[in-house]
Amino acid sequence: MNARPMLTVREALDFLLGAARPVAQTETVATLEANGRVLAADQLSQLDVPPMDNTQMDGYAVRAADCAGGAARLPVSQRIPAGHVGQPLQPGTAARIFTGAMIPPGADAVVMQEMCAAEKTESGDLVRINAVPQAGEWIRRAGEDIRAGSVILLAGALLRAQELGLAASVGLASLPVRRRLRVAVFFTGDELAMPGEPLAPGAIYNSNRYTLRGLLQNLGCDITDYGIVPDTLQATRDTLRSAAAGHDLIITSGGVSVGEEDHIRPAVEAEGRLNMWQIAVKPGKPLAFGEIRRDAGDSAFFLGLPGNPVSSFVTFLLFVRPFIRRLAGMADAPPASFMLRADFAWPKADRRNEFLRARLNDAGGLDLFPNQGSGVLTSTVWGDGLIDNPPGQTIAPGDLVRFIPFNQMLYLS
Ligand code: AMP
Ligand code: MG
Repeated sequence: MNARPMLTVREALDFLLGAARPVAQTETVATLEANGRVLAADQLSQLDVPPMDNTQMDGYAVRAADCAGGAARLPVSQRIPAGHVGQPLQPGTAARIFTGAMIPPGADAVVMQEMCAAEKTESGDLVRINAVPQAGEWIRRAGEDIRAGSVILLAGALLRAQELGLAASVGLASLPVRRRLRVAVFFTGDELAMPGEPLAPGAIYNSNRYTLRGLLQNLGCDITDYGIVPDTLQATRDTLRSAAAGHDLIITSGGVSVGEEDHIRPAVEAEGRLNMWQIAVKPGKPLAFGEIRRDAGDSAFFLGLPGNPVSSFVTFLLFVRPFIRRLAGMADAPPASFMLRADFAWPKADRRNEFLRARLNDAGGLDLFPNQGSGVLTSTVWGDGLIDNPPGQTIAPGDLVRFIPFNQMLYLS
């Protein structure tokens, strides 16, 4: 290893984000099927929303001037349910009207039905208006939500339930989205066994496979899983080469240290190019980033995560997720974090930026998982998120610390 100083978390992230090329291909999908996709182009509304002045209340549409004296009695000249178009309102009359129905020309206010009393007379229906309405009252104006011609959604937006509803409200039946990322994964380590298999002496279960696939599924990636690849240079090279062909990104776990059994580094160097980083982060530290050549002359991105399960999980949240967001066409945005009170002591400062597994307690503060070891997966299940503790920082009870909830880091957003 060379003796370069460790990268800060920010430096490593900036390097990754600078290198990320968003997938160029787009496709058109039905708005009904677009949940979780990333919008590929700005969307404009062709119409005003609401498209017409309409009533917010069941009641009577009137001319406010006809009711100015109070206790007006007006003949009911028409009935307008939602979805129907009324006739122009004759002066001195009222229209029975229902929520969402278009305001008839000539009316300028709605009186809610609770303020009205219907009367039947020989000459027809009357209504007594027990209120003095202001012009405009209970009317939703055309275009008060969205003006025709305005941009409603920007390219790069993650399409969540809200975005889909907004797109549908202006009549967009389909949307242009970036194609899903194709991500290949494989796992190094001759000690790894799969759940369902017996555990031989010296073996451990391949938990990273499950964690990593769950993380990638949450980010909307199409995953190809090459499983456990034998700890040899040849097998590692062969898998990298075939994975590069059909994927945007290859992610591995394990084998990124510099031990004799760590073949990722020479394999990636032989099949493309590699940056081996020591990052001042805990858990984490080693992260490999590079590209694997394809026959076509271009390349697939490569990210090698550490083997330790918590290191691999945290490294994914800190580095892989932002990288994938960029590849998917989204803008860089840090996960939301909150300054909260530490209800524990962390007396030993580390020169690395620590990400401590912590849990919200009933008193509005944070408790710390007692074992912060990089192999202790229990901490990731017990915790609600990570405390971002800067290098060289100790924590005393009562200190405010930066807390990033897991749910801010597990999804595209
Ligand atoms: P490595 O990065 O290959 O040196 O592995 C570091 C530690 O993580 C070792 O204790 C490995 O046994 C463990 N490890 C590596 N890969 C996995 C995996 N897929 N699942 C669980 N533990 C792993
Ligand atoms: Mg290994």
